[in-house]
Amino acid sequence: MAENKAEKPLGGVMDKVVSLAKRRGFIFQSSEIYGGLNSCWDYGPLGVLLKNNVKKAWWFENVQTRLDMCGLDAAILMHPQVWQASGHVNCFQDPMVDCKVCHKRFRGDDINSTVCPECGGELTEARQFNLMFKTFMGPVEDASAVVYMRPETAQGIFVNFKNVATSMRKKLPFGIAQIGKSFRNEITPGKFTFRTREFEQMEIEYFCRPEEAEKHFDYWVESRFAWYIKHGIKKENLRLRAHEKDELAHYAKACKDIEYAFPWGWSELEGIASRGDYDLTCHQNSSKENLQYFDEEKNEHFLPHVIEPSAGADRATLAFLADAYDEEEVPNDKGKKDVRVVLHFAKEIAPIKVAVLPLSKKQNLMDICEKIYADVSKICSCDYDDRGSIGKRYRRQDEVGTLYCVTVDFETLNDNAVTIRYRDSMKQDRISIDKLPTWVSENLK
Ligand code: ATP
Repeated sequence: MAENKAEKPLGGVMDKVVSLAKRRGFIFQSSEIYGGLNSCWDYGPLGVLLKNNVKKAWWFENVQTRLDMCGLDAAILMHPQVWQASGHVNCFQDPMVDCKVCHKRFRGDDINSTVCPECGGELTEARQFNLMFKTFMGPVEDASAVVYMRPETAQGIFVNFKNVATSMRKKLPFGIAQIGKSFRNEITPGKFTFRTREFEQMEIEYFCRPEEAEKHFDYWVESRFAWYIKHGIKKENLRLRAHEKDELAHYAKACKDIEYAFPWGWSELEGIASRGDYDLTCHQNSSKENLQYFDEEKNEHFLPHVIEPSAGADRATLAFLADAYDEEEVPNDKGKKDVRVVLHFAKEIAPIKVAVLPLSKKQNLMDICEKIYADVSKICSCDYDDRGSIGKRYRRQDEVGTLYCVTVDFETLNDNAVTIRYRDSMKQDRISIDKLPTWVSENLK
Protein backbone atom coordinates (compact mmCIF):
# COMPACT_ATOMS: atom_id res chain seq x y z
CA MET A 1 0.00 0.00 0.00
CA ALA A 2 2.90 2.28 0.78
CA GLU A 3 4.33 1.62 -2.66
CA ASN A 4 5.00 4.51 -4.95
CA LYS A 5 2.20 4.65 -7.52
CA ALA A 6 3.82 7.23 -9.77
CA GLU A 7 4.77 5.55 -13.02
CA LYS A 8 7.45 6.73 -15.35
CA PRO A 9 6.19 7.83 -18.78
CA LEU A 10 5.53 4.71 -20.85
CA GLY A 11 6.62 6.25 -24.11
CA GLY A 12 5.24 6.43 -27.64
CA VAL A 13 1.53 6.43 -28.01
CA MET A 14 0.97 4.79 -24.62
CA ASP A 15 1.03 7.98 -22.53
CA LYS A 16 -1.68 9.43 -24.77
CA VAL A 17 -3.67 6.20 -24.46
CA VAL A 18 -3.40 6.25 -20.65
CA SER A 19 -4.61 9.85 -20.54
CA LEU A 20 -7.46 9.19 -23.00
CA ALA A 21 -8.45 6.05 -21.06
CA LYS A 22 -9.00 8.11 -17.93
CA ARG A 23 -10.48 11.21 -19.57
CA ARG A 24 -13.04 9.26 -21.60
CA GLY A 25 -14.09 6.66 -19.06
CA PHE A 26 -12.18 3.56 -20.16
CA ILE A 27 -9.89 2.89 -17.19
CA PHE A 28 -9.57 4.54 -13.77
CA GLN A 29 -7.09 4.00 -10.95
CA SER A 30 -8.69 1.76 -8.31
CA SER A 31 -9.83 3.60 -5.13
CA GLU A 32 -8.57 6.86 -6.63
CA ILE A 33 -10.27 9.12 -4.06
CA TYR A 34 -8.13 7.41 -1.40
CA GLY A 35 -4.94 7.92 -3.34
CA GLY A 36 -5.29 4.76 -5.43
CA LEU A 37 -4.08 1.22 -4.93
CA ASN A 38 -0.92 0.31 -6.78
CA SER A 39 -1.40 -1.83 -9.90
CA CYS A 40 -5.18 -2.08 -9.48
CA TRP A 41 -7.43 -0.57 -12.15
CA ASP A 42 -11.17 -0.17 -12.62
CA TYR A 43 -12.79 -0.41 -16.05
CA GLY A 44 -15.14 2.54 -16.51
CA PRO A 45 -18.32 2.66 -18.62
CA LEU A 46 -16.47 2.46 -21.96
CA GLY A 47 -13.75 0.15 -20.65
CA VAL A 48 -16.21 -2.47 -19.54
CA LEU A 49 -17.87 -2.43 -22.98
CA LEU A 50 -14.47 -2.70 -24.66
CA LYS A 51 -13.15 -5.53 -22.49
CA ASN A 52 -16.46 -7.42 -22.73
CA ASN A 53 -16.21 -7.19 -26.53
CA VAL A 54 -12.67 -8.61 -26.42
CA LYS A 55 -13.87 -11.50 -24.25
CA LYS A 56 -16.95 -12.02 -26.45
CA ALA A 57 -14.80 -12.16 -29.60
CA TRP A 58 -12.54 -14.74 -27.92
CA TRP A 59 -15.45 -16.86 -26.68
CA PHE A 60 -17.25 -16.65 -30.03
CA GLU A 61 -14.29 -17.95 -32.00
CA ASN A 62 -12.96 -20.48 -29.49
CA VAL A 63 -16.14 -21.87 -27.93
CA GLN A 64 -19.45 -20.87 -29.50
CA THR A 65 -18.59 -21.74 -33.10
CA ARG A 66 -16.67 -24.98 -32.37
CA LEU A 67 -18.07 -28.42 -31.75
CA ASP A 68 -14.85 -29.59 -30.14
CA MET A 69 -14.83 -26.89 -27.43
CA CYS A 70 -16.87 -26.20 -24.33
CA GLY A 71 -16.80 -23.63 -21.56
CA LEU A 72 -16.25 -23.64 -17.82
CA ASP A 73 -16.41 -21.16 -14.95
CA ALA A 74 -14.52 -22.63 -11.99
CA ALA A 75 -14.32 -21.07 -8.53
CA ILE A 76 -11.43 -18.74 -7.72
CA LEU A 77 -10.80 -20.48 -4.39
CA MET A 78 -9.82 -24.12 -4.77
CA HIS A 79 -8.69 -26.93 -2.49
CA PRO A 80 -5.14 -26.06 -1.32
CA GLN A 81 -3.94 -29.47 -2.51
CA VAL A 82 -4.56 -28.32 -6.09
CA TRP A 83 -1.69 -25.85 -5.75
CA GLN A 84 0.57 -28.39 -4.06
CA ALA A 85 -0.05 -30.86 -6.87
CA SER A 86 0.37 -28.31 -9.66
CA GLY A 87 3.73 -27.20 -8.24
CA HIS A 88 2.61 -23.63 -7.49
CA VAL A 89 3.22 -23.85 -3.73
CA ASN A 90 6.85 -24.88 -4.22
CA CYS A 91 7.78 -23.38 -7.56
CA PHE A 92 5.60 -20.40 -8.47
CA GLN A 93 8.13 -17.86 -7.35
CA ASP A 94 10.31 -15.06 -8.64
CA PRO A 95 13.69 -13.92 -7.29
CA MET A 96 13.38 -10.60 -5.45
CA VAL A 97 16.18 -8.13 -4.72
CA ASP A 98 16.14 -4.81 -2.83
CA CYS A 99 18.39 -1.79 -3.14
CA LYS A 100 20.07 -1.15 0.23
CA VAL A 101 20.28 2.58 -0.55
CA CYS A 102 17.00 3.70 -2.20
CA HIS A 103 15.00 0.63 -1.05
CA LYS A 104 13.49 0.06 -4.50
CA ARG A 105 12.50 -3.56 -5.14
CA PHE A 106 13.21 -5.46 -8.35
CA ARG A 107 12.62 -8.85 -9.90
CA GLY A 108 16.05 -10.47 -9.87
CA ASP A 109 15.65 -11.81 -13.41
CA ASP A 110 14.76 -8.33 -14.73
CA ILE A 111 18.12 -6.71 -13.95
CA ASN A 112 21.48 -7.72 -15.38
CA SER A 113 23.72 -5.70 -13.12
CA THR A 114 24.92 -6.21 -9.56
CA VAL A 115 23.99 -2.66 -8.59
CA CYS A 116 20.66 -0.82 -8.37
CA PRO A 117 19.54 0.33 -11.85
CA GLU A 118 17.94 3.43 -10.26
CA CYS A 119 20.67 4.79 -7.97
CA GLY A 120 23.69 2.51 -8.38
CA GLY A 121 23.39 1.37 -4.73
CA GLU A 122 24.29 -2.07 -3.42
CA LEU A 123 21.64 -4.80 -3.88
CA THR A 124 20.62 -7.52 -1.42
CA GLU A 125 21.02 -11.22 -2.27
CA ALA A 126 18.06 -12.55 -4.31
CA ARG A 127 15.31 -14.19 -2.20
CA GLN A 128 12.64 -16.43 -3.66
CA PHE A 129 9.19 -14.91 -3.34
CA ASN A 130 6.00 -16.94 -3.91
CA LEU A 131 3.56 -15.02 -6.08
CA MET A 132 0.35 -16.58 -4.77
CA PHE A 133 -1.99 -14.47 -2.64
CA LYS A 134 -3.04 -16.28 0.54
CA THR A 135 -6.17 -15.87 2.56
CA PHE A 136 -8.06 -17.84 5.22
CA MET A 137 -11.24 -19.84 4.80
CA GLY A 138 -13.59 -19.56 7.78
CA PRO A 139 -13.16 -17.67 11.05
CA VAL A 140 -9.87 -19.16 12.28
CA GLU A 141 -6.68 -17.70 10.82
CA ASP A 142 -4.33 -20.66 11.18
CA ALA A 143 -2.26 -22.77 8.80
CA SER A 144 -5.06 -25.32 8.31
CA ALA A 145 -7.38 -22.57 7.02
CA VAL A 146 -5.01 -21.21 4.33
CA VAL A 147 -6.44 -21.04 0.83
CA TYR A 148 -4.99 -19.33 -2.25
CA MET A 149 -6.46 -16.91 -4.74
CA ARG A 150 -5.86 -18.76 -8.00
CA PRO A 151 -2.81 -17.48 -9.91
CA GLU A 152 -4.17 -18.95 -13.18
CA THR A 153 -7.51 -20.28 -14.39
CA ALA A 154 -5.92 -23.40 -15.92
CA GLN A 155 -6.00 -25.59 -12.81
CA GLY A 156 -9.80 -25.20 -12.58
CA ILE A 157 -9.93 -26.82 -16.01
CA PHE A 158 -7.55 -29.68 -15.21
CA VAL A 159 -9.37 -30.72 -12.05
CA ASN A 160 -12.67 -30.69 -13.97
CA PHE A 161 -11.32 -32.63 -16.96
CA LYS A 162 -13.13 -35.83 -16.01
CA ASN A 163 -16.40 -34.03 -15.10
CA VAL A 164 -16.54 -32.27 -18.47
CA ALA A 165 -15.46 -35.28 -20.54
CA THR A 166 -18.10 -37.50 -18.88
CA SER A 167 -21.01 -35.07 -18.61
CA MET A 168 -20.57 -33.75 -22.16
CA ARG A 169 -19.63 -37.19 -23.65
CA LYS A 170 -16.59 -35.59 -25.27
CA LYS A 171 -14.25 -37.54 -27.53
CA LEU A 172 -10.62 -36.54 -28.09
CA PRO A 173 -9.52 -34.11 -29.31
CA PHE A 174 -11.54 -31.55 -27.39
CA GLY A 175 -10.89 -28.41 -25.41
CA ILE A 176 -12.20 -26.61 -22.35
CA ALA A 177 -12.13 -22.82 -22.27
CA GLN A 178 -12.44 -20.44 -19.38
CA ILE A 179 -12.37 -16.69 -18.79
CA GLY A 180 -11.81 -15.50 -15.24
CA LYS A 181 -9.88 -13.50 -12.71
CA SER A 182 -6.41 -14.55 -11.55
CA PHE A 183 -4.20 -13.05 -8.87
CA ARG A 184 -0.42 -12.80 -8.66
CA ASN A 185 1.49 -10.86 -6.06
CA GLU A 186 3.85 -9.52 -8.74
CA ILE A 187 7.08 -7.99 -7.41
CA THR A 188 7.15 -5.26 -10.02
CA PRO A 189 3.68 -4.60 -11.42
CA GLY A 190 3.27 -1.63 -13.72
CA LYS A 191 3.05 -0.35 -17.27
CA PHE A 192 -0.61 0.56 -16.80
CA THR A 193 -2.78 -2.58 -17.10
CA PHE A 194 0.02 -4.66 -18.66
CA ARG A 195 1.17 -6.20 -15.39
CA THR A 196 -1.22 -6.06 -12.46
CA ARG A 197 -1.83 -8.15 -9.38
CA GLU A 198 -5.45 -8.85 -10.22
CA PHE A 199 -6.14 -9.61 -13.87
CA GLU A 200 -8.31 -11.65 -16.15
CA GLN A 201 -7.20 -14.61 -18.22
CA MET A 202 -8.72 -16.33 -21.25
CA GLU A 203 -7.38 -19.88 -21.22
CA ILE A 204 -7.89 -23.03 -23.23
CA GLU A 205 -6.74 -26.54 -22.39
CA TYR A 206 -6.97 -28.63 -25.54
CA PHE A 207 -6.77 -32.38 -24.84
CA CYS A 208 -5.54 -34.75 -27.51
CA ARG A 209 -3.78 -38.06 -28.20
CA PRO A 210 -0.01 -37.78 -27.46
CA GLU A 211 1.01 -38.47 -31.05
CA GLU A 212 -1.20 -35.60 -32.27
CA ALA A 213 0.08 -32.96 -29.84
CA GLU A 214 2.56 -31.40 -32.27
CA LYS A 215 -0.08 -30.98 -34.97
CA HIS A 216 -2.50 -29.32 -32.53
CA PHE A 217 0.23 -27.10 -31.09
CA ASP A 218 1.02 -25.76 -34.58
CA TYR A 219 -2.68 -25.26 -35.26
CA TRP A 220 -3.29 -23.27 -32.06
CA VAL A 221 -0.25 -21.05 -32.54
CA GLU A 222 -1.49 -20.10 -36.00
CA SER A 223 -5.12 -19.75 -34.97
CA ARG A 224 -4.42 -17.57 -31.95
CA PHE A 225 -2.02 -15.32 -33.88
CA ALA A 226 -4.64 -14.84 -36.61
CA TRP A 227 -7.30 -13.94 -33.99
CA TYR A 228 -5.52 -10.71 -32.98
CA ILE A 229 -5.13 -9.64 -36.61
CA LYS A 230 -8.72 -10.52 -37.48
CA HIS A 231 -9.93 -8.24 -34.70
CA GLY A 232 -7.85 -5.26 -35.72
CA ILE A 233 -4.24 -5.47 -34.50
CA LYS A 234 -1.76 -4.54 -37.21
CA LYS A 235 0.29 -7.51 -38.31
CA GLU A 236 3.56 -5.59 -38.10
CA ASN A 237 2.93 -5.00 -34.38
CA LEU A 238 2.71 -8.72 -33.61
CA ARG A 239 5.35 -11.42 -33.61
CA LEU A 240 5.80 -15.00 -32.50
CA ARG A 241 8.69 -15.91 -30.24
CA ALA A 242 9.61 -19.52 -29.59
CA HIS A 243 10.95 -20.19 -26.09
CA GLU A 244 14.58 -21.19 -25.89
CA LYS A 245 15.31 -24.64 -24.45
CA ASP A 246 16.49 -23.15 -21.13
CA GLU A 247 13.32 -21.05 -20.86
CA LEU A 248 10.99 -24.04 -21.16
CA ALA A 249 9.46 -25.59 -18.04
CA HIS A 250 10.93 -29.08 -17.54
CA TYR A 251 7.68 -30.79 -18.61
CA ALA A 252 6.94 -28.50 -21.58
CA LYS A 253 7.60 -29.84 -25.04
CA ALA A 254 7.32 -26.45 -26.76
CA CYS A 255 6.12 -22.93 -26.06
CA LYS A 256 5.59 -19.89 -28.25
CA ASP A 257 4.62 -16.41 -27.14
CA ILE A 258 2.53 -14.00 -29.16
CA GLU A 259 4.15 -10.63 -28.53
CA TYR A 260 2.97 -7.08 -29.19
CA ALA A 261 5.24 -4.12 -29.98
CA PHE A 262 4.45 -2.03 -26.90
CA PRO A 263 6.38 1.28 -26.66
CA TRP A 264 8.65 -0.30 -24.00
CA GLY A 265 9.50 -3.24 -26.28
CA TRP A 266 8.07 -6.53 -27.52
CA SER A 267 6.05 -8.07 -24.68
CA GLU A 268 3.88 -11.16 -24.23
CA LEU A 269 0.16 -11.05 -24.94
CA GLU A 270 -0.34 -14.80 -24.88
CA GLY A 271 1.65 -18.00 -24.48
CA ILE A 272 0.86 -21.27 -26.25
CA ALA A 273 2.43 -24.28 -24.56
CA SER A 274 2.55 -27.98 -25.28
CA ARG A 275 2.38 -29.38 -21.73
CA GLY A 276 2.35 -33.13 -22.34
CA ASP A 277 0.37 -35.02 -19.69
CA TYR A 278 2.14 -33.21 -16.83
CA ASP A 279 -0.89 -31.54 -15.24
CA LEU A 280 -3.25 -34.51 -15.40
CA THR A 281 -0.47 -36.78 -14.07
CA CYS A 282 0.15 -34.45 -11.11
CA HIS A 283 -3.54 -34.30 -10.20
CA GLN A 284 -4.04 -38.01 -10.72
CA ASN A 285 -1.12 -38.83 -8.42
CA SER A 286 -2.12 -36.30 -5.78
CA SER A 287 -5.89 -36.92 -5.72
CA LYS A 288 -5.64 -40.70 -6.36
CA GLU A 289 -8.54 -40.27 -8.80
CA ASN A 290 -8.20 -42.01 -12.12
CA LEU A 291 -8.18 -39.20 -14.70
CA GLN A 292 -7.48 -41.42 -17.70
CA TYR A 293 -9.43 -41.18 -20.91
CA PHE A 294 -10.85 -44.33 -22.48
CA ASP A 295 -10.55 -44.54 -26.25
CA GLU A 296 -13.37 -46.91 -27.23
CA GLU A 297 -12.17 -47.50 -30.78
CA LYS A 298 -8.65 -48.42 -29.72
CA ASN A 299 -9.73 -49.97 -26.41
CA GLU A 300 -7.04 -47.97 -24.68
CA HIS A 301 -6.79 -46.06 -21.39
CA PHE A 302 -4.35 -43.13 -21.22
CA LEU A 303 -3.80 -39.59 -19.99
CA PRO A 304 -4.33 -37.12 -22.84
CA HIS A 305 -1.68 -34.58 -23.75
CA VAL A 306 -2.59 -30.93 -23.60
CA ILE A 307 -2.01 -27.76 -25.61
CA GLU A 308 -2.56 -24.56 -23.61
CA PRO A 309 -3.22 -21.22 -25.33
CA SER A 310 -3.20 -18.82 -22.38
CA ALA A 311 -4.09 -15.16 -23.00
CA GLY A 312 -4.67 -12.12 -20.81
CA ALA A 313 -7.92 -10.20 -21.30
CA ASP A 314 -6.41 -7.00 -19.88
CA ARG A 315 -3.25 -7.18 -21.98
CA ALA A 316 -5.28 -7.90 -25.11
CA THR A 317 -7.60 -4.97 -24.31
CA LEU A 318 -4.59 -2.69 -23.82
CA ALA A 319 -3.10 -3.81 -27.14
CA PHE A 320 -6.43 -3.25 -28.96
CA LEU A 321 -6.63 0.22 -27.42
CA ALA A 322 -3.04 1.20 -28.27
CA ASP A 323 -3.22 -0.23 -31.78
CA ALA A 324 -6.49 1.57 -32.56
CA TYR A 325 -5.11 4.99 -31.48
CA ASP A 326 -4.50 7.42 -34.31
CA GLU A 327 -4.07 11.15 -34.82
CA GLU A 328 -5.11 12.46 -38.22
CA GLU A 329 -4.84 15.91 -39.77
CA VAL A 330 -8.23 17.05 -41.02
CA PRO A 331 -9.54 20.43 -42.22
CA ASN A 332 -11.84 22.26 -39.78
CA ASP A 333 -14.84 24.57 -40.50
CA LYS A 334 -12.50 27.52 -41.05
CA GLY A 335 -10.45 25.64 -43.62
CA LYS A 336 -7.50 25.28 -41.21
CA LYS A 337 -5.89 22.02 -40.14
CA ASP A 338 -7.10 20.22 -37.05
CA VAL A 339 -5.87 17.05 -35.40
CA ARG A 340 -8.55 14.43 -35.02
CA VAL A 341 -7.90 11.71 -32.44
CA VAL A 342 -9.63 8.54 -33.52
CA LEU A 343 -9.72 4.97 -32.25
CA HIS A 344 -9.99 2.74 -35.32
CA PHE A 345 -11.44 -0.27 -33.48
CA ALA A 346 -12.76 -3.20 -35.50
CA LYS A 347 -16.57 -3.33 -35.53
CA GLU A 348 -16.93 -6.10 -32.96
CA ILE A 349 -14.37 -4.48 -30.61
CA ALA A 350 -15.70 -0.88 -30.66
CA PRO A 351 -17.40 -0.17 -27.31
CA ILE A 352 -20.10 2.04 -28.87
CA LYS A 353 -21.46 1.24 -32.28
CA VAL A 354 -23.94 4.09 -32.80
CA ALA A 355 -24.25 7.61 -31.36
CA VAL A 356 -27.55 9.42 -31.78
CA LEU A 357 -27.15 13.20 -32.06
CA PRO A 358 -29.88 15.85 -32.37
CA LEU A 359 -28.65 18.83 -34.39
CA SER A 360 -30.28 21.14 -31.87
CA LYS A 361 -31.91 20.79 -28.47
CA LYS A 362 -35.40 21.41 -29.92
CA GLN A 363 -37.90 19.09 -28.28
CA ASN A 364 -39.24 17.70 -31.58
CA LEU A 365 -35.71 16.62 -32.64
CA MET A 366 -34.96 15.17 -29.21
CA ASP A 367 -38.20 13.14 -29.30
CA ILE A 368 -37.14 11.55 -32.58
CA CYS A 369 -33.68 10.80 -31.11
CA GLU A 370 -35.26 9.14 -28.09
CA LYS A 371 -37.28 6.83 -30.33
CA ILE A 372 -34.20 6.00 -32.48
CA TYR A 373 -32.14 5.31 -29.34
CA ALA A 374 -34.87 3.01 -27.98
CA ASP A 375 -34.94 1.00 -31.24
CA VAL A 376 -31.22 0.84 -32.03
CA SER A 377 -30.04 0.15 -28.47
CA LYS A 378 -31.91 -3.17 -28.69
CA ILE A 379 -29.45 -4.13 -31.43
CA CYS A 380 -26.14 -2.73 -30.18
CA SER A 381 -24.55 -0.38 -27.64
CA CYS A 382 -25.49 3.24 -28.31
CA ASP A 383 -24.73 6.68 -26.98
CA TYR A 384 -26.73 9.92 -27.04
CA ASP A 385 -25.10 13.35 -27.02
CA ASP A 386 -26.72 16.77 -27.35
CA ARG A 387 -23.93 18.98 -25.91
CA GLY A 388 -21.82 21.32 -28.05
CA SER A 389 -21.50 21.86 -31.77
CA ILE A 390 -22.08 18.89 -34.05
CA GLY A 391 -18.42 19.03 -35.15
CA LYS A 392 -17.23 18.73 -31.54
CA ARG A 393 -19.64 15.86 -30.94
CA TYR A 394 -18.30 13.97 -33.97
CA ARG A 395 -14.76 14.44 -32.60
CA ARG A 396 -15.81 13.17 -29.18
CA GLN A 397 -17.27 10.04 -30.75
CA ASP A 398 -14.18 9.53 -32.95
CA GLU A 399 -12.02 9.70 -29.85
CA VAL A 400 -13.79 6.68 -28.32
CA GLY A 401 -14.07 4.79 -31.60
CA THR A 402 -17.84 5.02 -32.21
CA LEU A 403 -18.56 3.47 -35.61
CA TYR A 404 -21.55 5.49 -36.77
CA CYS A 405 -23.05 8.84 -35.78
CA VAL A 406 -26.74 9.24 -36.58
CA THR A 407 -27.73 12.91 -36.77
CA VAL A 408 -31.32 14.07 -36.57
CA ASP A 409 -31.67 17.53 -38.18
CA PHE A 410 -34.51 19.86 -39.20
CA GLU A 411 -34.80 18.11 -42.56
CA THR A 412 -35.70 14.95 -40.63
CA LEU A 413 -39.04 16.56 -39.75
CA ASN A 414 -39.87 16.65 -43.49
CA ASP A 415 -38.21 13.56 -44.95
CA ASN A 416 -38.21 11.21 -41.94
CA ALA A 417 -34.55 10.48 -42.70
CA VAL A 418 -31.27 10.90 -40.78
CA THR A 419 -27.61 11.45 -41.66
CA ILE A 420 -25.22 8.60 -41.00
CA ARG A 421 -21.60 9.65 -40.58
CA TYR A 422 -18.86 7.00 -40.78
CA ARG A 423 -15.99 7.14 -38.28
CA ASP A 424 -13.10 6.20 -40.56
CA SER A 425 -13.98 7.91 -43.85
CA MET A 426 -16.09 10.70 -42.25
CA LYS A 427 -18.36 10.19 -45.28
CA GLN A 428 -22.06 10.91 -44.77
CA ASP A 429 -25.17 9.12 -46.10
CA ARG A 430 -28.85 9.89 -45.77
CA ILE A 431 -31.13 7.04 -44.73
CA SER A 432 -34.80 6.72 -43.85
CA ILE A 433 -35.48 6.20 -40.11
CA ASP A 434 -37.66 3.14 -40.88
CA LYS A 435 -34.69 1.40 -42.48
CA LEU A 436 -32.19 2.34 -39.74
CA PRO A 437 -32.47 -0.75 -37.46
CA THR A 438 -32.00 -3.12 -40.43
CA TRP A 439 -29.16 -0.97 -41.77
CA VAL A 440 -27.38 -1.10 -38.38
CA SER A 441 -27.83 -4.90 -38.04
CA GLU A 442 -26.54 -5.46 -41.59
CA ASN A 443 -23.55 -3.16 -41.15
CA LEU A 444 -22.46 -4.72 -37.87
CA LYS A 445 -22.18 -8.20 -39.44
P1 ATP B 1 4.93 -12.63 -17.79
O1 ATP B 1 6.17 -13.32 -18.27
O2 ATP B 1 4.59 -11.37 -18.55
O3 ATP B 1 4.86 -12.45 -16.31
P2 ATP B 1 3.71 -15.17 -17.79
O4 ATP B 1 4.50 -15.88 -18.85
O5 ATP B 1 4.00 -15.40 -16.37
O6 ATP B 1 3.71 -13.59 -18.13
P3 ATP B 1 1.43 -16.77 -18.11
O7 ATP B 1 1.56 -17.44 -16.81
O8 ATP B 1 1.79 -17.53 -19.34
O9 ATP B 1 2.18 -15.39 -18.08
O10 ATP B 1 -0.05 -16.20 -18.23
C1 ATP B 1 -0.76 -16.18 -19.44
C2 ATP B 1 -1.20 -14.78 -19.80
O11 ATP B 1 -1.84 -14.14 -18.68
C3 ATP B 1 -0.07 -13.84 -20.17
O12 ATP B 1 0.31 -13.99 -21.51
C4 ATP B 1 -0.69 -12.49 -19.91
O13 ATP B 1 -1.47 -12.06 -21.02
C5 ATP B 1 -1.60 -12.75 -18.73
N1 ATP B 1 -0.93 -12.32 -17.49
C6 ATP B 1 -0.04 -13.01 -16.73
N2 ATP B 1 0.37 -12.30 -15.67
C7 ATP B 1 -0.27 -11.11 -15.76
C8 ATP B 1 -0.28 -9.93 -14.95
N3 ATP B 1 0.43 -9.84 -13.83
N4 ATP B 1 -1.05 -8.89 -15.34
C9 ATP B 1 -1.80 -8.95 -16.46
N5 ATP B 1 -1.85 -10.04 -17.26
C10 ATP B 1 -1.10 -11.11 -16.92
